[in-house]
Amino acid sequence: MNNNDSGASSVNSGGRERRRNAGVPKRCWCGEAIIAKMSKSESNPYRRYYRCAFAIEKKLSNDNHIFKWVDDALLSEIEALTVRTEKLEQVVADITNGTMEVAKKIFEELQMKLENESDQRVEEAVAEAKNEMKKMMLVMCLGCIVVVGCTKLVG
Ligand SMILES: [Zn+2]
Repeated sequence: MNNNDSGASSVNSGGRERRRNAGVPKRCWCGEAIIAKMSKSESNPYRRYYRCAFAIEKKLSNDNHIFKWVDDALLSEIEALTVRTEKLEQVVADITNGTMEVAKKIFEELQMKLENESDQRVEEAVAEAKNEMKKMMLVMCLGCIVVVGCTKLVG
C-alpha cells in the first residue's frame, strides 16, 4: 500500500521532481553538504560527480544519498537557464511588440506628415532643377555660339 502510494505520486510529480532536483545539488536530503569528487571507476574515469559528504565519509554504496554526475548537473542547469531565458525573451518580445505597435503608429503619422512636406519640397526641387537646366542650356548654347563665332573669326 505504502509502496503503491509513493510509486504513483512519484510518477505523477515526475516533472516537478526532476525540476526541483535539476542543476547542481546544494545539499543532500540528509542535511549533509555536497562534495564534488573525481570518479576512479573504469566505466567513468576522471568523470567528476557530486556526492553526499556523509556517504563519502561512510564509504556508502548503493545508497540513496545524492549522487550526480557534474556534467549531467551542469547540463540540466543550462537547460533550466535556457527555459528561463526563453521565457524572458518572450516577455521582452511581448513588451517590444507592444512598444513597436505604438512606435509604428507614431512613425506612420510622422511619415504621412513628412511625405506631404517632402512632396512639396520635391516639387520645388524639380522646379529649381528645371530652371537650372534652362540656365545650363542657355550657357551651353551661348558657349557654342561663341566657339562657332571664334572659329569663324580665326578661319
Ligand atoms: Zn546524504
